[in-house]
Amino acid sequence: AKGTGRNAVVHYSPRLDDEVRARTALAADLRHALERGELEVFYQPVVRGTPAVLCGVEALLRWNHPERGLVPPLEFVPLAEASGDIDAIGRWVLTQAAAQVAVWHRELPGAEDLELAVNLSPVQLRDPGLLTIVGDALHQAGLAPGHLIVEVTESMLLSDLDLARRQLDALRTLGIQVAIDDFGTGYSSLSYLARLPADQVKIDKSFVRDLGEDRSPSVPLVRSIVEMARALGLDVQAEGVEETVQETILAELGCDRAQGYLYSRPVPAAQLAELAAALGAA
Ligand code: C2E
Ligand code: CA
Ligand code: CA
Ligand code: CA
Repeated sequence: AKGTGRNAVVHYSPRLDDEVRARTALAADLRHALERGELEVFYQPVVRGTPAVLCGVEALLRWNHPERGLVPPLEFVPLAEASGDIDAIGRWVLTQAAAQVAVWHRELPGAEDLELAVNLSPVQLRDPGLLTIVGDALHQAGLAPGHLIVEVTESMLLSDLDLARRQLDALRTLGIQVAIDDFGTGYSSLSYLARLPADQVKIDKSFVRDLGEDRSPSVPLVRSIVEMARALGLDVQAEGVEETVQETILAELGCDRAQGYLYSRPVPAAQLAELAAALGAA
């Protein structure tokens, strides 16, 4: 059904009905996914320097559904946000990932400064208990706040900038870093970015994809993002780096960190030791 105007016609198609039913069923299953142990945190390496060495990981949520197999986060995170389940799930991701990274700090050679990036949902950012939740997760794990990066998107900040700024300021007071995810996809201007409590911007993968193509329109764009970030003292990370040519151009443009299939896909925790050895931990 599209449109809500005067002349809007509501069409019920059996297919749409099926879709709605499938989503409702998925949302119901999701309610139990956490307690049934169906959720898992994968980790994707973040690298810096030339040659690239491992400096951090991004926690990426996975759902092993008993019948459907692996359900991608873009399909179930919105459902969890709508139902409110994201509070419990988001807290679990933080706790789980912080504990895991604390183990790597102790056990992986050269990984004592490995950083952990965790995605925050807008629902979590609006939660007045966020600071306590994050603080508890770090405390339980014995992870220093400086090793945690929370990732928020530009669009999240646009909806209630004042609240977001207060929450992020409070986290930064603890020593936690803030990264603006999917950067460049919103309406970021220099003045807007200057007012954000952030330590890092992550250039969206849509701008990385065509780097290396002839007269790629993304080159001047990435260049200006890097300049803007530099002027504000922010670190710049690129995501979605799949090819060496993209890596080379990003390094030339002054990008500090990178993440993408060129280095590794997101992997289960058990595979990180092997990757760390291959990438050389920093
Ligand atoms: P995101 O935060 O922008 O995460 C980056 C996405 O890009 C991940 O997709 C990652 O697997 C994918 N990616 C990484 N390198 C490459 C590459 O070289 N090429 C391509 N094509 N893709 C690459 P994923 O894991 O499917 O996650 C999708 C989104 O789901 C995330 O986007 C994030 O918005 C959300 N998400 C994932 N985990 C969580 C979580 O724990 N909490 C919340 N609130 N959202 C999450
Ligand atoms: Ca992210
Ligand atoms: Ca992103
Ligand atoms: Ca994204």
